[in-house]
Amino acid sequence: MIWLFLLASIAAFFTLAYLEARAWVWTLAVGAVLAALASLVDLSPLATNALLWGFVVFAAILNVKPLRRLLISDPLLRVFRKVMPPMSQTEADAINAGTVWWDGELFSGRPSWDELLSFPRPRLSAEEQAFLDGETEELCRIADDWDTYAINDLSPHAWQYLKDKGFLGMIIPKEYGGKGFSAYAHSQVVMKLATRCSAATVSVMVPNSLGPAELLLHYGTEQQKRHYLPRLGKGLEIPCFALTNPHAGSDAAAIPDHGVVCKGTWEGNEVLGMRVTWDKRYITLGPIATLLGLAFGLYDPDHLLGDKEDIGITCALVPTNHPGVHIGRRHFPLNATFHNGPNWGKDVFMPLDWIIGGPAMAGQGWRMLMECLAAGRSISLPSSNVGMSKLAVRATGAYARVRSQFKTPIGKFEGIEEALTRMGANLYMMDAARRMTAVGIDLGEKPSVISAIVKYHVTERNRRVVNDAMDIQGGKGICLGPNNFMGRAYQQIPISITVEGANILTRSLIIFGQGAIRCHPYVLREMLAAREPDRKKASQEFDHALWGHIRFTLTNAVRSLVMGLTGSHWIGVALDAAPENRRYFQQLTRFSAMFAFLTDVSMVVLGGGLKRREKLSARLGDILSLMYLVSATLKRYEDEGRQQADKPLLDWAVWDAMFKAQNAFEGVISNYPSRPVAWLLRRCLFPLGRPYVMPSDRLGHDVARLLIEPSASRDRLTAGMYLPKGETDITGKLEAALDAAIAAEPIERKLREAQKAGHIAGETAEALAKAGVAAGMLTAEERAQIARAARLRDEVIRVDDFPPDLALAEEARPAAQRAVA
Ligand SMILES: Cc1cc2nc3c(=O)[nH]c(=O)nc-3n(C[C@H](O)[C@H](O)[C@H](O)COP(=O)(O)OP(=O)(O)OC[C@H]3O[C@@H](n4cnc5c(N)ncnc54)[C@H](O)[C@@H]3O)c2cc1C
Repeated sequence: MIWLFLLASIAAFFTLAYLEARAWVWTLAVGAVLAALASLVDLSPLATNALLWGFVVFAAILNVKPLRRLLISDPLLRVFRKVMPPMSQTEADAINAGTVWWDGELFSGRPSWDELLSFPRPRLSAEEQAFLDGETEELCRIADDWDTYAINDLSPHAWQYLKDKGFLGMIIPKEYGGKGFSAYAHSQVVMKLATRCSAATVSVMVPNSLGPAELLLHYGTEQQKRHYLPRLGKGLEIPCFALTNPHAGSDAAAIPDHGVVCKGTWEGNEVLGMRVTWDKRYITLGPIATLLGLAFGLYDPDHLLGDKEDIGITCALVPTNHPGVHIGRRHFPLNATFHNGPNWGKDVFMPLDWIIGGPAMAGQGWRMLMECLAAGRSISLPSSNVGMSKLAVRATGAYARVRSQFKTPIGKFEGIEEALTRMGANLYMMDAARRMTAVGIDLGEKPSVISAIVKYHVTERNRRVVNDAMDIQGGKGICLGPNNFMGRAYQQIPISITVEGANILTRSLIIFGQGAIRCHPYVLREMLAAREPDRKKASQEFDHALWGHIRFTLTNAVRSLVMGLTGSHWIGVALDAAPENRRYFQQLTRFSAMFAFLTDVSMVVLGGGLKRREKLSARLGDILSLMYLVSATLKRYEDEGRQQADKPLLDWAVWDAMFKAQNAFEGVISNYPSRPVAWLLRRCLFPLGRPYVMPSDRLGHDVARLLIEPSASRDRLTAGMYLPKGETDITGKLEAALDAAIAAEPIERKLREAQKAGHIAGETAEALAKAGVAAGMLTAEERAQIARAARLRDEVIRVDDFPPDLALAEEARPAAQRAVA
């Protein structure tokens, strides 16, 4: 009976913890267990009294809030205040910026899959689709990377075209003269341009990202909006945004650029203004900008604005023809031809009205930047990097089929297959994340943590895809020229890695550091309570958050263990989820609970030190990120109508991501500073060992095949990219060569077999074909087919060569002129 009693008590504990039972349920349960114990065991009166009083105290603490606060929560609040790491205003602005979206669900331990599947499918309006098929297609036609190389710029024609057609004002609402496009449409345009021309992509990306338009829309005065937005939308102004200083890159809040509030003369009148000194570098579009968005620290030593001397980071809009503004010089970022350069000014007087939002917004610059960063960062780099990968996958897949060595298309060698597999599956997942994030922005979210996740993971995966593409192409990828479709993307990858939050910093500090505070259901509430000056309010709010947090941690510990022991087979998933993906949803639920538990343990064990333990923080961030990528991939599969033919892409991408997430868990646990805690964590999170292994070679083979032959899957995988019509340039030619090679393969096989059997003879393929026709084995049409395949193959495997002085510009000029014509 005693054993039965013990087992029942343990089962009750696990059940209540698993179900996250409320305090009164725990009280009833503990009461029942104690009553059962008293009836089973012959207790002395003293022991009975001790049990009774113990229960009364337990019940009182759990259920009588004032008592609980007095005895437990308030003392803990005092400790928490002491150990909580200090937070500067700029850190607080960064943490508070933006919204929590699907990342919050992943932190919850119980993601709502119904909610995920209820997010709308990404869609374009008829007008947006027409812009992609019309203006964007045309811009791609007239601007390609090699053409820009000749003149170190887009052609004047391409520049005029993108200004006239509104490319610079996609995010500006129609009422202000912009296109008013959805985030998804904006993303589709940037992605398509990136499959063709990096200069056009970046020139369009910046004004539609953190360029002043976004800041003006949210914080500008009505007068500023009415003046600047229509001009920006029509391309009458070229904007840039200057934050980075030689002494402050990643730590941008530390910019030494400064302005001092003072009186001065403006348009003949004495006005209140500021004298600004700045030295900026790396500013995209800066050398040709007409409107400079400028960030600097503002000081008011003479108290002309109020009591505060150090007002804080301020953003202003400065016309670049204003006396004292220096622009024009260029950097040369890895051979990229978009405009990028320094700008500077010393003691330049400007009126306070130039502050974005007017004088009232002086000192609010950092908060403004952080709040606006999420939307731009969610779109620009993820879209352009998916574009690069689409080009890499489509064109390299075709090349791998057309290029033969050892009498075999190289795409059929297992070694190449491995690289093709990574490329295809990575792209499937990257594009899924891009699409889902754009949908989030269109739903009104400004997901700061998710924007960091997609920025980091899409650019890193693109780096991998492009590297794989380069390896597959061999020398073809290395020799630059109009026939090289990958080399310039390869050169420019580090730019994506560095801008909008350099990747090492983003992974090590931002994703988990910000996520753990922002997305966790209780941590921010506890921190805010600890900072609350009203003692009573602080006590109430901390108590509420603390006990919720304890229940949350307990339930995630028990759920992790139980799901680990049972393989999470019986976890409920979304009603509408594809049955073939059921296990993935179940495993993700398990990982989410494990992650939530590991996060809580880490915060308790490492406290403020977690911020300095960047390697652990990076791995925790990887787990969160990989769960986001897998969610987006499962959602994409549903959105696209559960395409069975695409299942290998999904399976490989998800297995690989889950395997990597599992390794990240292991990386955290095995490097835990406390060995006993590490031991306990491993037993709790992986009680039966680690379930995921690498995706199989057979699955990889199925993925690789999708890349080397035309199919609906290949079209879906690379949808939205620019495909030149006809055979005038290398990507169009590769498409034709792929079709021709596949059509010719059975004919060539027939000839080879006939040759082996001694029915025909010939030194060259052409001689063999001639003999085949003569022997009646081949029709004239078949002979023409293999001749065409051979011609196209020959054309696509060739690389460019130049005069001895490498007069690249001379060689390229006809192409540039052709574009203008
Ligand atoms: C082509 C190009 C275009 C750009 N466009 C603009 C623009 O339009 N406007 C603008 O204002 N700026 C722009 N930038 C600047 C860009 O945002 C910065 O380059 C970026 O913030 C990184 O700063 P940094 O280059 O000075 O590197 P650093 O800050 O010196 O960083 C060097 C390395 O240290 C790492 N690191 C730094 N701190 C940490 C940490 N705490 N933990 C771990 N690792 C860390 C970084 O990840 C990086 O790998 C551009 C840069 C380039 C190259």
